[in-house]
Amino acid sequence: MKYYSTNNQAPIADLHKAVVKGLAEDRGLYMPERINKLPKEFFENINKMSFQEIAYTVANAFFGEDVDPDALHDIVYDTLSFDCPVAKVKDNIYTLELFHGPTLAFKDVGARFMARLLQYFIRQEGKGQQVNVLVATSGDTGSAVANGFLGVDGIHVYVLYPKGKVSPIQECQFTTLGKNITAIEVDGVFDDCQALVKNAFMDAELNQHMKLTSANSINVARFLPQAFYYFNAYARMVENGNNEELVMCVPSGNFGNICAALFGHEMGLPIKRFIAANNANDIFYKYLQTGKYEPKPSKQTLANAMDVGDPSNFARIYDLYGKSHERIKSLISGATYSDEQIRQTMKACYDETGYILDPHGACGYQALEDGLKEGEIGVFCETAHPAKFKEKVDEILSIDVEIPDRLAAFMKGTKQSVPMTKDFADFKQYLLKQ
Ligand SMILES: *Cc1c(COP(=O)(O)O)cnc(C)c1O
Repeated sequence: MKYYSTNNQAPIADLHKAVVKGLAEDRGLYMPERINKLPKEFFENINKMSFQEIAYTVANAFFGEDVDPDALHDIVYDTLSFDCPVAKVKDNIYTLELFHGPTLAFKDVGARFMARLLQYFIRQEGKGQQVNVLVATSGDTGSAVANGFLGVDGIHVYVLYPKGKVSPIQECQFTTLGKNITAIEVDGVFDDCQALVKNAFMDAELNQHMKLTSANSINVARFLPQAFYYFNAYARMVENGNNEELVMCVPSGNFGNICAALFGHEMGLPIKRFIAANNANDIFYKYLQTGKYEPKPSKQTLANAMDVGDPSNFARIYDLYGKSHERIKSLISGATYSDEQIRQTMKACYDETGYILDPHGACGYQALEDGLKEGEIGVFCETAHPAKFKEKVDEILSIDVEIPDRLAAFMKGTKQSVPMTKDFADFKQYLLKQ
């Protein structure tokens, strides 16, 4: 499969290059030149297939031309060592729980898949040169990437995070691992971490010294595997007999997750329409209303993993539908919620149904409450385990959310991190010594 850049100014790449480089030379996002439709028989039998079997079929349609079948099978089964259940919350509203992975984040799937695919390509190169992944995080991405890449030989990961600005649970998830994961505690804010990473990619001397790559959601190997979730959701809805008039609602920030769902739709997944649920960062919502895409600085909200003022995967969605506002808004609608509305939704849902929403999932649930039409059945993604946002959830619902063993285990480890200033010269000196 060939991959082109959404900016159309970069050379066509193969999968190997798209995964190793992440972003195209013209700073566009890589898109597959074709999206293969899956056969009718697949959808007719999907309810009899497991999450892993479904995922392998989907992965094969995207990556099968470029990856040895046994290796791809291995990568998919290693990535999906957990379940992805669908549960009824009330009436015609269902939740698709995406938080059963190793760090209880939906990003676990893309992070692990990318780590294993990158490893596959490094081994193919056979030069034995270590690849170094740099990732800046305000919390969730760092833990998913660090755990996804943990113990994968040939790759070293540097997680840069702002000192004192990530939650204690999140910090434990990437500072206690050791092995091929180094946590770097930057005396600054998230933007400083991101600037250090960007400068490192552009520094010629550093790139001579070591092979650098990024693991953020613009990478095709990170966002595409999220399509597995949506095929599985459909299968489980067929199983429970509620697969007609399906509306899929995705709490969105950088729009990688919903973009994967839309790729699934292009492959033939029978979803009637989509809703992108936003917090107060309403750039996509405004685009749907006006046809104008106007990025803004992000606003801090309760659902902080969606605090994005310039969603990177918008470029992919725009390209996928031929830059047509009409086509985009006929398939996807939007919703936007303030922190106050998120709080009210969490309370109302808990009182009415007993289901504990986290602030991100709350946007999805409310968008279905507000947007479902007669006869439609809605499935919203619950993108984070409520214990990940324990302080907020406990306070809003006046409860004491139980911390799952898997999360608690991280908190027993010893924190290890390298202190760093936000000055690029210091970071560069540090990397040159590695
Ligand atoms: C990353 C994240 C999102 C946003 O996903 P995108 O793919 O960036 O749209 C939503 N909720 C949670 C909990 C997340 O961690």
